[in-house]
Amino acid sequence: MTEEAFDVIVVGSCMTDLVSQAPRLPKAGETIHGHKFFIGFGGKGANQCIQAARLGAKTAMVCKVGKDFFGDNYIQNFKDNGVHTDFVGQTSNSATGAASIIVNDAGENAIVIVAGANMLLGSEELHKALPAIRHTKVLVCQLEISPQTSLQALRMAQENKVKTIFNPAPAIPDLGPEFYGVSDVFCCNESEAELLTGSSVGNVDEAHKAGQELLKRGCRSVIITLGPQGCVVLKVEEPSPKYVPTTAVTAVDTTGAGDSFIGALAFYMAHYPTMPLEEMALRANRVAGVSVQAVGTQTSYPFRKDLPAELF
Ligand code: ATP
Repeated sequence: MTEEAFDVIVVGSCMTDLVSQAPRLPKAGETIHGHKFFIGFGGKGANQCIQAARLGAKTAMVCKVGKDFFGDNYIQNFKDNGVHTDFVGQTSNSATGAASIIVNDAGENAIVIVAGANMLLGSEELHKALPAIRHTKVLVCQLEISPQTSLQALRMAQENKVKTIFNPAPAIPDLGPEFYGVSDVFCCNESEAELLTGSSVGNVDEAHKAGQELLKRGCRSVIITLGPQGCVVLKVEEPSPKYVPTTAVTAVDTTGAGDSFIGALAFYMAHYPTMPLEEMALRANRVAGVSVQAVGTQTSYPFRKDLPAELF
């Protein structure tokens, strides 16, 4: 059992991305030659944890991988990024989560995701991590593991007065109402906000309205990210929504931008607990804006040393 106090604990997913680039997507039954293959580290939970760690947060990951090559490799990736791995479980009952991705020359893709070991993360692992969860500054959850596990982790955090960030991604239309009450910050993108509210979220005004609707459901604050437009922030204590613009950059690869934003937000909440949420969101916009200017997911996430001093 660990007595260490973490800045950020993420309870969530790990996925190994197996990416093949080919001139076109194969038809059923067809074998074609591609021109490039690479393996990438992904999974929303792990992405968010790695971004927080690269900014200087003391982080731990609570997750499950397979007792296989990809699982061993993922644990090494956490260690290489300074993420604490005592709560990374390994199981023989399922393979490490994997996404097989084919990208054609037009940039279109076909993806098969097998959540695998991620779905076996449950109460047992949460109880093992409870002493650490009790003392962490911030806990972050998403929906790439069993929603019941995410909800239980958020409840554990709330019972121990730990700040929570909940990212309802990938979105499910029938999200349980109890998720709102356990979220200090409910942070989603436009399409997730649309699915949850049933209203279109294509501009800042619509994001303000969707944010107000989500806030009414019981969370303490809402952030809706808007790609190159930045994000909107809403808080129970200040009813008027705030638009937090960012400097739009030419994106090379936006994969994982939302996770970079959330990892950065978790870092700021842990390190600057009295900073206004709008200021944290403004800085998280800047961090995520850097991540879209390089290819890959975690490979594009900036380290503290690469960012301007004014962000710290
Ligand atoms: P993804 O699914 O690609 O990981 P997302 O849809 O969850 O991303 P977005 O809202 O697209 O998340 O982007 C998250 C944040 O990244 C934005 O709030 C913004 O701060 C930053 N961002 C994304 N695209 C750009 C861009 N072109 N220029 C500047 N910042 C950007």
